[in-house]
Amino acid sequence: MSTVCKVHKICVLPGDGIGPEIMKVATQALTVAGSKEGEQFEYKECLIGGAAIDATGKPLPDETLAVAKESNAVLLAAIGGYKWDTLPSAQRPERGLLAIRAGLNAFANLRPAIVPRQLADASPLKRELVEGVDILIVRELVGGIYFGQPRGFGVNEKGDRIGYSTDVYSEPEIERISRVAFEAARKRGKRLCSVDKSNVLEVSQLWKEVVIRVGKDYPDVELTHMYIDNAAMQLIRNPKYFDVVVTSNLFGDILSDEASMLAGSLGLLPSASISGSGPGIYEPVHGSAPDIAGKDLANPLAMVLSAAMMCRYDLAIPNVADRLESAVNAVLDAGLRTGDIYKEGVAGTRLVKCSEMSAELMKHI
Ligand code: ATP
Ligand code: MG
Repeated sequence: MSTVCKVHKICVLPGDGIGPEIMKVATQALTVAGSKEGEQFEYKECLIGGAAIDATGKPLPDETLAVAKESNAVLLAAIGGYKWDTLPSAQRPERGLLAIRAGLNAFANLRPAIVPRQLADASPLKRELVEGVDILIVRELVGGIYFGQPRGFGVNEKGDRIGYSTDVYSEPEIERISRVAFEAARKRGKRLCSVDKSNVLEVSQLWKEVVIRVGKDYPDVELTHMYIDNAAMQLIRNPKYFDVVVTSNLFGDILSDEASMLAGSLGLLPSASISGSGPGIYEPVHGSAPDIAGKDLANPLAMVLSAAMMCRYDLAIPNVADRLESAVNAVLDAGLRTGDIYKEGVAGTRLVKCSEMSAELMKHI
């Protein structure tokens, strides 16, 4: 047990749908895990998304961003729901998420793809291929072809209509995402695969060059390179090959969705959007699940694993992260399954509600 006691300031954003239910579980789990390791948390709960629109008219109130900026990290549950689906897109709850990412300069998106051995049968791939997969995809989030100029529609010299977008990265942009990835690799299996298309694209040639240069500062991390087409294939052929993957906005968008399917369920997948300095945003990959909100049916584990990720990456208290992750493992070992991860006829498992899963989790922490 550690003897240093530090108070970690957490901006808590329960949001909409099942958000408040699963957030309650995560903060309780954090508090208990922290107390065992001599770490304390101070929670400031703020509004975001639909809940914020209802109360203030804005999906991200100024006060929420101000509290987030003063915190050590932001824990976010879920945003959106049927109630706000008819609003024009510029006023939708999801805008709150884009705004807080921009407000905290969160340029790196970290998406683990984990296949816990207890759930390996839910994967569309064979158990032997996916059992024990533990990949972290680091996706650049604010640059590349989604934002590059020039972009638009026009007419070519033959008079045909054209559409065009520009994939562009500057050296500093590549350098900062590379550092986030190398730092993450250092905390994990010490292997980093940079994914590009440098056999065809100049932007990828620069990407590769900068990643190699940054890698000189991380001699303890083994760096490899893969073309995106091959990476998409290897992710299915031999997913256990990968530890940390770093890639551009477009390639990362595609690869992280592909990787999330290895698990066969979103119920256990956390994510982070971070700036490398200042607070990061930690949230489950799943949405607000309005169809089951308030019914005690939600799976709280992705939210708890998001809190664990926060402990590992932003708060630098890996012992608390380990404690949360082992407790999640233990409830899965005990056979507890919420509806989203339950499969009929699997020996030793039973269908439980959110409250029972949470009570069992606290026991194991
Ligand atoms: P987004 O809000 O990101 O657009 P979505 O609307 O595509 O997401 P979700 O809100 O994630 O999807 O819900 C998809 C389905 O998965 C729903 O039937 C929902 O009930 C279920 N689901 C999502 N998250 C959970 C969870 N934590 N526990 C149980 N079921 C869940
Ligand atoms: Mg949704």
